[in-house]
Amino acid sequence: MAYVQFFAEKEKDKFQLGNKGVSLVEMTHLGLPVPPGFVITIDAYKRWRETKLLPSETITESVAALEKEIGRKLGKGLEVSVRSSGPVSMPGMMDTVLNVSDMGQLFSALGRVFESWDNMRAVEYRRLNKIPSTLGTAAVVQAMVYGNRDERSGTGVLFSRNPSTGEAGIFGEYLSQAQGDDLVSGTRTPKPVETLKAMMPDVYARLEEIAKRLERHFCDMQDIEFTVESGKLYILQTRTAKRSGQAAVKSAVDMVEEELITPEEAISRVTPDDISGLLHKRLKAPVTLRPLVKGLNAAPGAASGRVVFDPVSAVAEARKGTSVILVRPETSPDDIQGIAAAEGVLTQRGGLTSHAAIVARGMGKPCVCGAEDILIDTLARQFSVNGTLVQEGEEITIDGTMGNVYLGRLAVEEVSLTQELMELMSWADGFKRLGVRANADTPQMIAQAKTFGAEGIGLCRTERMFNAPERLSVIREFILAENGSKRTDAIEHLGQLQKEDFGFLFRELQGLPIIIRLLDLPLHEFLPPEDEVADPQVRKRIAELKETNPMLGHRGVRLAVTSPQIYQMQIEAIEKALAEVPADVSVMIPQVVTAQEALMVKRLLKGSRMKVGVMMETVRACMRAAQLAEEVDFFSFGTNDLTQAVFSFSREDAEKKFLTTYLTLGILQDNPFEVLDVKGVGRLMETAVFWARRAKKEIEIGVCGEQAGEPRSVRYLHTIGVDYVSTSPFRIPIAKLVAAQAALAGRRDSQPDKEKEEGK
Ligand code: PEP
Ligand code: MG
Repeated sequence: MAYVQFFAEKEKDKFQLGNKGVSLVEMTHLGLPVPPGFVITIDAYKRWRETKLLPSETITESVAALEKEIGRKLGKGLEVSVRSSGPVSMPGMMDTVLNVSDMGQLFSALGRVFESWDNMRAVEYRRLNKIPSTLGTAAVVQAMVYGNRDERSGTGVLFSRNPSTGEAGIFGEYLSQAQGDDLVSGTRTPKPVETLKAMMPDVYARLEEIAKRLERHFCDMQDIEFTVESGKLYILQTRTAKRSGQAAVKSAVDMVEEELITPEEAISRVTPDDISGLLHKRLKAPVTLRPLVKGLNAAPGAASGRVVFDPVSAVAEARKGTSVILVRPETSPDDIQGIAAAEGVLTQRGGLTSHAAIVARGMGKPCVCGAEDILIDTLARQFSVNGTLVQEGEEITIDGTMGNVYLGRLAVEEVSLTQELMELMSWADGFKRLGVRANADTPQMIAQAKTFGAEGIGLCRTERMFNAPERLSVIREFILAENGSKRTDAIEHLGQLQKEDFGFLFRELQGLPIIIRLLDLPLHEFLPPEDEVADPQVRKRIAELKETNPMLGHRGVRLAVTSPQIYQMQIEAIEKALAEVPADVSVMIPQVVTAQEALMVKRLLKGSRMKVGVMMETVRACMRAAQLAEEVDFFSFGTNDLTQAVFSFSREDAEKKFLTTYLTLGILQDNPFEVLDVKGVGRLMETAVFWARRAKKEIEIGVCGEQAGEPRSVRYLHTIGVDYVSTSPFRIPIAKLVAAQAALAGRRDSQPDKEKEEGK
């Protein structure tokens, strides 16, 4: 590569010219009014770095050619700017030298710009953004134009569409009688670019035309810098515009309609974060306030409200129309009404698969979990954090997307489920292979799941039906019953309630299939703390039921093995509800380790037409996948419990005790309860899928743990051949987008092979 390239020459190698250099070459070739100039290439930089020698002769010749083109001499009516141009954008990190008016100055300006590749800012920026230092930079030498020359001069920045809403039409700012730096430094306030319409209508019209032209050329939204010098327009730079999630979705869909890009490109261009921002309320940027405390970003979204410390107050305040944030040491089923009434949840303890996190995510409410620095005094109805006291009734704002908690009420932007998002989702449906279902336990959640485009309910947790306090007392009666007849009474009562609940669920389904998981009761979640109970009999029973490791204890199918009447009751309740409201129902057995357990439950289902499946959430179940597959119609990986089992990390405690340190030290790259651990849990799943399909080709395999809605995990799950993922209703559009992106990437990857075959 030569050491110097003029903008009017053809090469467009960004590893020689840098981004800015390439964009100037492109724009010059499009015939846009770009002030002329040339690029000192990255090869020249590399030589300079070794030898401190610049290609002086070539540069002198290039300046002479530039002088000839413009018809003015350097220092006599011609000045140039010298700017860095790297292959990866490092905004504001390197030096710029303006108004260079003679050859000594030019060489020293080039030396200064090249040297700034290694200034501390740039080095730190590269380290943070993992940009290799070996890339190097080019330098752009360009004739200066002056936005500060007279009243018909100025400078501006222009977006080819509105970068926050995606609306069509140019959007930007203009500062009269100013240079680019005045705009960037913020010392003067610019006016909307529309002001140019009245001042210089032809310049405005040309800007509109150029913005369109550049969009057509680059097939994407542009961010354009321009200067007007005595009524003449110059374009200084163009690049792909940064945009909000809403603008990303709208512009991608609009561009398909404008035939600028294909639906495939639109799908690939939108990111999961773009969509996530649309599905949850978010803080209005920019937030300069320091968070009061940080915790885990357990459920996305933002909300403000008055602090309450118990579910009863949450419900009472919400009834009065007050927005509240429920603050708890940790949550339990007792709190569900409170979570439903609150705008968001803050807990001192618990991780991403804790009760609060799963419930809040399911309901689409923001949640910050495991904010260990807060000390809650429920009696005094206050919490303190690093010396700041927050009392009941004071306002706080939580940002569950980032895990931040702020004092006071911050401005929040609303959810926008737009027409364009729906359109994008319909394209995703056409490309993806993975099914996308919802985890939903209530009619409201099913309704939400339908709004977000769920293809079925992949996990309905039946223990969650005992939300209301009156329900909780029945399930406690059952758990605490000390003799058979009391237990039978409690079970009958439960059966009646469940039948009604199933009826409500089935009515809401309107044709969607549902997988009902039989009771998976980690007993401890439903019991009152021993010290809150006065009755000595009940206290004794609580003590008897206490387990050292409840998550590995008497739960799931194990409970059914010792007391089959529980599952019997549930199955009957489903059948009775079905007799009244027909629906497509399958049942699923949790915590299975052996085919014998599945066989036992199948005997309870004798005569039923419902399909039966097992949760794959123990290591042994995965190792016995072939034998299990022979007995059941489907599998669903419960990756919350499976991760707990594979790591031997308690899903309740790991995050608050040591996982953060593991992540900080880089011992683990990701929290495995958030992002599926491909190397361990994933391997086990792959093995199970392989043996299951060998035993029964048509077996349906899904994933319903919390990772099933996380973008990287969905991408991976696509590749191991599971049939569907099931996730909280609010993550469905994200899962659909990623599933479609994965399918399209797979198509692209297999393309060369196909071509090879065709060539043979
Ligand atoms: C799981 O373990 O992944 C699962 C979906 O079930 P739960 O979270 O209810 O244990
Ligand atoms: Mg589980």
